[in-house]
Amino acid sequence: MAIDFSFTADQEAFRSAVRAFLQKEVAPVVPAMDETEEFPRESVAKMRSEGYFGVPIPEEYGGLGLGKVGYCIFLEELGKVDASHGTIVGAHTSLGTTPLLYYGSEEQKQKWLVPAARGEKLLAFSLTEPGSGSDSGAVHTVAEPSGDGWEITGNKIYVSNGREADTVILMAGNDVKLGPNGGVTAFIVDTNLPGFKVGRCEKKMGLHGTSTAELILDHVRVGPDRVLGEVGKGFHAAMTALDVGRVSLGAASLGGIEAATTEALEFAKNRTQFGLPISEYEAIQFKLADMAMKAHALKFMVYHAAEHQDRLGTDPKKWSRLERAEKTREAAVVKCLASEWASDVIDQALQIHGGLGYIRGTPIERAYRDARISEIFEGTNEIQRVVISRDVIARGL
Ligand SMILES: Cc1cc2nc3c(=O)[nH]c(=O)nc-3n(C[C@H](O)[C@H](O)[C@H](O)COP(=O)(O)OP(=O)(O)OC[C@H]3O[C@@H](n4cnc5c(N)ncnc54)[C@H](O)[C@@H]3O)c2cc1C
Repeated sequence: MAIDFSFTADQEAFRSAVRAFLQKEVAPVVPAMDETEEFPRESVAKMRSEGYFGVPIPEEYGGLGLGKVGYCIFLEELGKVDASHGTIVGAHTSLGTTPLLYYGSEEQKQKWLVPAARGEKLLAFSLTEPGSGSDSGAVHTVAEPSGDGWEITGNKIYVSNGREADTVILMAGNDVKLGPNGGVTAFIVDTNLPGFKVGRCEKKMGLHGTSTAELILDHVRVGPDRVLGEVGKGFHAAMTALDVGRVSLGAASLGGIEAATTEALEFAKNRTQFGLPISEYEAIQFKLADMAMKAHALKFMVYHAAEHQDRLGTDPKKWSRLERAEKTREAAVVKCLASEWASDVIDQALQIHGGLGYIRGTPIERAYRDARISEIFEGTNEIQRVVISRDVIARGL
């Protein structure tokens, strides 16, 4: 058994290039973005033109071809700099491009995946509804057959990138009585279609650079070419996207943990109280030790899961039941621990900053507000525990 967690020279070079880019183009805009709560158009446009919205997508479909490991390197670095930019990329790449890559026909890939991977078009992913959150299979948005296509009517909420997206991967009920197994279909919905409207955009505790939008669909007509994968199999496509999203969210959380630890360490070395730098006090040292332990463990978990997903490939028909179960459990474990550790580490880093950590505009104060959502979106951590415990009961450890 070979367990080698070293990155290749190309992966290290990619990490260095990303780090330099983010310091130059993204870090400077974040404080103002957090205050104005505006979508960071210019920095996002630069990221899109660098190919950073298609990191894991094969080159033949317009991406950088760096797989999930490369994608996690990118999100880890981005997570050190800003969670809003990380969420914009995650909603587009993990949740938007994955269903197209894994379930799309060749024609759909050429039409929607290639421009998305090149960063020419922005994607969103829409599963949640007012009455359907954790119980995400209970979709009420209805897709009715109309001519040779479909007519979609309903309300979606909390859609990241929903205000800016060109296209939404949207789950609608082809037969709501059937529920998630057979009753939910994934549709490719362009946002300029008649009957499609962006509704309310939420004001949030954090992630101020992202839109979290309501989508209103009033008899939106789509052709048969907009059905992604098979009719009635949309819930599976959504869950596959979430498996990718949960691991990449782990990578972004890892970046958040590393940045908070570094900031707390610097502060602790430089802040003197009672005649000594506070880093000399065991109470502070043990907090730093706890932070370092979490960063260390999470790095292995994230890249193990990313490499595992790369090994499985992007054709769901080739996965055995066991492979699916292992992948889904691993993604849930990574998401759950990463988000809880990030909240905890950032909380402790804030504590090390004393009163300064509570002052609006400090990086640690922003990180504290931004991190909390990771325990909620892409499936709450209670739902991750439901997923994990079901699998443990079915298969054992
Ligand atoms: C900023 C933001 C961005 C988002 N982006 C997107 C997006 O891009 N696309 C999208 O589709 N959705 C998105 N969401 C929605 C998000 O995924 C949901 O909010 C989340 O899944 C929880 O659903 P809910 O809010 O309806 O909570 P509920 O499901 O109502 O849950 C309320 C509480 O009950 C608990 N609970 C529910 N069921 C169980 C159970 N069986 N066992 C134990 N506990 C349970 C939950 O864990 C939670 O603590 C976003 C949300 C936010 C806030």
